[in-house]
Amino acid sequence: MSSDSDIQTTTRGFCCKLCNVNLPNLSSVEQHVKGRKHQTLSGVRSTRKSHEEHSVFVSGIKPQISSTDLTEYFEQFGAVSDVIVDKDKGVYAIVQFSESESIQAALACVEHRLQGLKLRVKPREKKEFKLIPKKKNDPQSLQQIFDRLKPELCQLSSVDAQMKLLVERLQLGENEKKARGLVVQLLQEVFVEFFPDSQILLFGSSVNTFGIHSCDLDLFLDLENTKTFQARAKTSTEQAGEGVSDDGRSEDSILSDIDLSTASAAEVLELVATILKRCVPSVHKVHVVSTARLPVVKYHHRELNLHGDITLNNRLGVRNTRFLQLLSGLEERLRPLVFTVRYWAKQKQIAGNPSGAGPLLNNYALTLLVVFFLQNCRPPVLPTVDQLRDMACEEEECVIDGWNCTFPSQPIAVQPSQNTQDLCSLLAGFFTFYTQFDFPSSIISLRQGCALPITDFLSQAKDGKASPEGPASEPKLGPLNLLDPFELSHNVAGNVNERSLCSFQKACQEADKFCRSPRYQNKSSKGKSWGLGRLLAPLGAAQQAHPERLVITIPFRTAALPEGLRGELHSAGDGFRLLWSRKVCSAVEVVLKNVLRCELEASTAPGPEEMETTLNDSTQSVESNSDGSPQRTGTKRPLPSGSDDSATPPGKKLRLARTAKADFPPWVCVQKHAVWVGRRKVRRELVKGPDIRPEGSCLELESQVTASIADKEPELKDPLEFKVCPQTVGGTENTRLLLNVEPGSDKAGVFHDFFHFLEVFVPKMVETVLESGAGSA
Ligand code: ATP
Ligand code: MG
Repeated sequence: MSSDSDIQTTTRGFCCKLCNVNLPNLSSVEQHVKGRKHQTLSGVRSTRKSHEEHSVFVSGIKPQISSTDLTEYFEQFGAVSDVIVDKDKGVYAIVQFSESESIQAALACVEHRLQGLKLRVKPREKKEFKLIPKKKNDPQSLQQIFDRLKPELCQLSSVDAQMKLLVERLQLGENEKKARGLVVQLLQEVFVEFFPDSQILLFGSSVNTFGIHSCDLDLFLDLENTKTFQARAKTSTEQAGEGVSDDGRSEDSILSDIDLSTASAAEVLELVATILKRCVPSVHKVHVVSTARLPVVKYHHRELNLHGDITLNNRLGVRNTRFLQLLSGLEERLRPLVFTVRYWAKQKQIAGNPSGAGPLLNNYALTLLVVFFLQNCRPPVLPTVDQLRDMACEEEECVIDGWNCTFPSQPIAVQPSQNTQDLCSLLAGFFTFYTQFDFPSSIISLRQGCALPITDFLSQAKDGKASPEGPASEPKLGPLNLLDPFELSHNVAGNVNERSLCSFQKACQEADKFCRSPRYQNKSSKGKSWGLGRLLAPLGAAQQAHPERLVITIPFRTAALPEGLRGELHSAGDGFRLLWSRKVCSAVEVVLKNVLRCELEASTAPGPEEMETTLNDSTQSVESNSDGSPQRTGTKRPLPSGSDDSATPPGKKLRLARTAKADFPPWVCVQKHAVWVGRRKVRRELVKGPDIRPEGSCLELESQVTASIADKEPELKDPLEFKVCPQTVGGTENTRLLLNVEPGSDKAGVFHDFFHFLEVFVPKMVETVLESGAGSA
């Protein structure tokens, strides 16, 4: 299926022209060609080619000519397998034959006439199959939008005014809302033809008050009434013996093809996709994503340049949209905060998965993080979901799929907040809150408005008491655990991986540092960018000014430590950080030297103690003021505050972060093999069967994988040289070891690939080493 001509040599190795990816060596080429992406695209290309070779292009038709008319006409030349009529104008069609010989017969015919019209029949144009790169998150266009907005922001006199302007510039305009309404109306009209009594309901950002110009159109096709209609029609057909229901409407052919009471969601969605493709003008790029948690049909509306999703059975989505509308109605500071945080996250490329799936936070999760922060301000800006439930009256009670989704329908039922902080200080508070938040040990609960200790949650889950309502299933726990406000068995951020969480926290740390500088609140008299004008600068620009720091984070996670070590750390009392750092540094050494076969040399450069001062940024250590309150090293001014304290993560006692004397000077390392390339395949070969062990979970196996790569693959032409400097940071409850990685020689330009591998591999492997006791210091 794949063709050798797809792979071309480049100055840095190889490149697959079909998939648009660079590949460093032959073994990665081999792996790539066998991989899913390449196989899928090759498959699509062959199908397209075969379609082209079996079809003709027919023009000169009129909208009254149906695909059945065309099928009947062209069947004189051979069996017709498909006819696609241009649904927008109905003036051309593609007729596909089962046998390619039929094309010659059709082309040989001198004149084609159908219903008095003269048809023109031509061979299909042969188009080169090309992967069009996605543009949605194009940093260039983000840069352009920001470039236009920045001068306006910088002219305003306060951060509050800047945040309000952002809302004004980004929010959906009245005309856009009307246009979206017309699309919904059109879809409703079409769907009701095929699915009598069905209803299209809008949810998501188009209606939750947080929608911006380009946001997608999330729709829920409610077929409950259609099911009833179908059941009734069936009964009356059986009684009357013909296809007319008791209300006189004829049961449409599509409905007679499918039994909604037994059909799977994927089957119904295929049908929905066919209707969209064939009957809704301007809708194209229709495809079903059946692997998503909630299967969807995706589509694009050409004229409005609008992407959209249609789901089935999504009452919870409609309800949580209502919930966000309510919160917006009762707290006017919520919208500017959510808009700013969403825009900031997009600029920093830490949220928004272009294809819908991916490891980054999505906008819904980000919004819930803002709500949770506001629940934790002192005094709270927003009530908890449990408190809202208690404020609702009996008629407002709502249970969906077993989950209690009760809240008041009107903001008036809720007491206004006592918190008077301005937007500027709340935004800064958001960044501080999540910089200090102990993600590894917590489950975020908007229901209770607090962080639940993960250990308690797990032990409750074991006893089946984690969620007293709804179906008995547990949320998929991960690095970031954010429970849906209603569906308590769902981790809204279950897709977020360690690396994305790390980028989110890093971005929060940087923003937190900036918010403590004079450039955050004070308009520059020299016309320099300040406030949001600077905070929201896209990642690219900021990176150019400050080259990326390569840091691997190893969090202190009690739950992941072996019992013996936990006991040792417990008895060390306040000295636990130092002891833990030593253990982790020993484990890192084992990983670098024994598992990855790096040649190590301890450098004579400053040890970790001195490094805390040289490498420190705002994120690193916390010192205390004379009154014992936390203050960051190197900060120019304290956090701006209104009349209230900013939120502190619940249960968090900020402590003096002592410099850990880890006794580990930096390591100078040399890596002679591309040990990060093709590991999964080698692991599979070594395990001899499906590889069910996650990467980094077995010390011996990973060492064998490296050994096998080192034995079979040639050495790198230019060995990679790099330095790793350990540094312990954080307070008692968010202690972590940072490994600052400094690349040295990298003539082949592959260091970034190696670093991205290390970033994920080392923390996992360190846990395994600690568990095995192999790295005991
Ligand atoms: P935008 O489309 O502007 O990115 P959105 O809020 O519409 O923002 P979508 O990802 O389109 O976000 O999701 C639409 C709706 O689906 C959300 O408003 C929410 O109701 C629901 N939803 C999205 N992601 C999740 C999730 N991870 N868990 C539960 N519900 C979700
Ligand atoms: Mg949406």
